[in-house]
Amino acid sequence: MQDSSMQSAPAQSWIESANRADCDFPLQNLPYGIFSTAAGQGPRVGVAIGDRIVDLSVLDQAGLLPAEAAGTFASASLNAFIGRGRPVWQQTRRRLTALLSGEDGRLRDDAALRERALVPMSAATLHLPVQIGGYTDFYSSREHATNVGRMFRDPDNALLPNWLEIPIGYNGRASSVVVSGTPVRRPNGQIKLPDQPRPLYGACRKLDYELEMGFIVGKESTLGEPVPIDAADDYLFGMVVLNDWSARDIQQWEYVPLGPFNSKSFATSISPWVVTMDALEPFRRDNPEQSPQPLPYLRQSRPNAYDIQLEVGLRPSGAQAARRISRTSFRSMYWTMAQQLAHHTVSGCNVRVGDLMASGTISGTEADSYGSLLELTRNGAAPLDVGDGMRRAFLEDGDEVVMRGWCEGAGYRIGFGEVSGRILPAAAIE
Ligand code: CA
Repeated sequence: MQDSSMQSAPAQSWIESANRADCDFPLQNLPYGIFSTAAGQGPRVGVAIGDRIVDLSVLDQAGLLPAEAAGTFASASLNAFIGRGRPVWQQTRRRLTALLSGEDGRLRDDAALRERALVPMSAATLHLPVQIGGYTDFYSSREHATNVGRMFRDPDNALLPNWLEIPIGYNGRASSVVVSGTPVRRPNGQIKLPDQPRPLYGACRKLDYELEMGFIVGKESTLGEPVPIDAADDYLFGMVVLNDWSARDIQQWEYVPLGPFNSKSFATSISPWVVTMDALEPFRRDNPEQSPQPLPYLRQSRPNAYDIQLEVGLRPSGAQAARRISRTSFRSMYWTMAQQLAHHTVSGCNVRVGDLMASGTISGTEADSYGSLLELTRNGAAPLDVGDGMRRAFLEDGDEVVMRGWCEGAGYRIGFGEVSGRILPAAAIE
């Protein structure tokens, strides 16, 4: 496998804060996002490096970026840049690497340009990075599907027969995808209590998170034409950490026969920086073993798994700090992103630039590696110690969930930053 991350000393930037071993945004990362500043113009495209954001609209104006990408950076979403295609993503990355390493000195040596192009991250507001046309949520962790099947259905037949053949997914809501830091209102909905003949209408009592990774589609496909699995690399622009907020009591009542609806559609949070597949390339790993062998359109001729470390912290209402409640990895997901894309389009359904596809909850095999409270607390039966003498079966108003992801290289990390969200009380019911 590709072990370039393990061999050479990490490349350095003249932006000192990027060179610390625990920095999420070193020279090797260069994730894209949308930011604005109080003093400046509206939202525009930036790249994170150390504790700075490079304003690409300024570099573009100065003629320092590839002509093929010109005009895409003074924009409130990444869609125009992404739409230029993979060769342009790679050209732009090479140019930024040269400028930020100092191999090309035109930014480093120009004080006036530096002043305009480098924004302290602490002075910026981060926005939703892409205009998302469609959001699809898969269900690709075998451990998670097994845990949920045991609780909600049948302990002896936790996995339904189709699970090992199909990367199971459903079409979610793009309209309620929000950027990290956006508060999330507890949903109201139909809840069926076991001792009542009919459901009640009220505030969710089992509010949960789901730890997931999402990928951003980078190329439009043609309606009626499936994307072959080995063409997936052209269609994957980059990844974010994703929290698929879930109302378990609403879900349990509504999900038969067509799957989740109100229980998932009220909010989905994503991290603000899109880490490109090029930055993740050194962390590509062999695919998990699949048995039975998937049908031909789902067979992969190259490795499509990625070694991404993940953790979840919970800051209970009133507490100073978040406590880590789960730690897991993206590496062992049963179905890969390439398989998800191939399956999504096999019917002829087309995808578009900016579409968001999520992995499904990522759970490991250990009890402290589960990606939801549903699993960690066994549907509320075993509340978690969350510090300061507090316990949680599910989320309470004022609680904040913080998720982080990163790839660990030798002497550097490719970080995603964090995705966080705090729970607001449900809207009053008349
Ligand atoms: Ca989900």
